[in-house]
Amino acid sequence: MIQITMPLGFLGTVYREIRQALVDMGEMFDLLHQPAEIQDAPDAKPIKVTGGEIRFENVDFAYYPDRPILKGVTLPVGAGQKVALVGPSGSGKSTIGRLLFRFYEVTGGAITIDGQDLRAVTQESLHEAIGVVPQDTVLFNDTIRYNIAYGKAEATQEEIEAAAKKAKIHDFVMSLPEGYETQVGERGLKLSGGEKQRVGIARTLLKDPPILLLDEATSALDTQTERDIQESLDAMERGRTVIVIAHRLSTIVDADRIVVLEQGVITEEGTHEELLARGGRYAGMWAVQKAEEEAEAEAAE
Ligand code: ADP
Ligand code: MG
Repeated sequence: MIQITMPLGFLGTVYREIRQALVDMGEMFDLLHQPAEIQDAPDAKPIKVTGGEIRFENVDFAYYPDRPILKGVTLPVGAGQKVALVGPSGSGKSTIGRLLFRFYEVTGGAITIDGQDLRAVTQESLHEAIGVVPQDTVLFNDTIRYNIAYGKAEATQEEIEAAAKKAKIHDFVMSLPEGYETQVGERGLKLSGGEKQRVGIARTLLKDPPILLLDEATSALDTQTERDIQESLDAMERGRTVIVIAHRLSTIVDADRIVVLEQGVITEEGTHEELLARGGRYAGMWAVQKAEEEAEAEAAE
């Protein structure tokens, strides 16, 4: 019996973990590239997150040995701080996110959370500590309740509703004839991009992770919807350590620090004001986005 049940139980765990990872990652990471499997160290311990301080110390990384992607990246994120990563496509922003999840092993340097090297902790506990809100939340063909509670199966109806209220989706759910039991997804009610993101926010609030990783890679939402949701995002970010990979610079003006990444190297960092005053790469990006927004506004008139 043992010979049969053990491998089956193991497969179940792996399956759940992979499914969870896919849901958490959503569209944010390139799912076509299956990362090589990383094993926990034999003496790996569950991570103990106290404040949620993240440190990338002189991190080098390459997907293939002859093509370095990150070169000596040192990135401290204080407990409860919000740090934004910006830079051209391909500069390594999402790779930083993947390394934080330990989907890949750094080739040089180290990443720590509250002083614990990621290589010394269990991946399960690491993934539990980090919440991800992709802009394009993947929904299951199941009820709204299931979709919000996904990742915390034991959540009570009260907890689910409290999270939905904070994510400002509760009233919408209550307006549906079947409320939280409404079927959504491909075979059910189709939610708008904004509604899906609110489900994602509620899911994350329920999971209550001390660390958040946001990747705006797919700008699925229009400017107005994004503004409406910003308030819920802000509420979710409060009291957590946040790394945000930003494309729309207007959403990170309030970040404690903005880091510009170019070809795997940090080339500028500071607050929004500091970087504007510096008149460098970030200031250039900001000017381009302002001009684009004005052109967009004019076209809309
Ligand atoms: P960004 O998020 O800043 O656009 P990424 O971190 O996704 O950039 O990618 C950085 C570089 O790494 C790019 O040159 C990209 O082609 C390469 N890259 C990304 N993912 C993989 C992968 N799974 N295998 C090989 N190369 C990859
Ligand atoms: Mg990216």
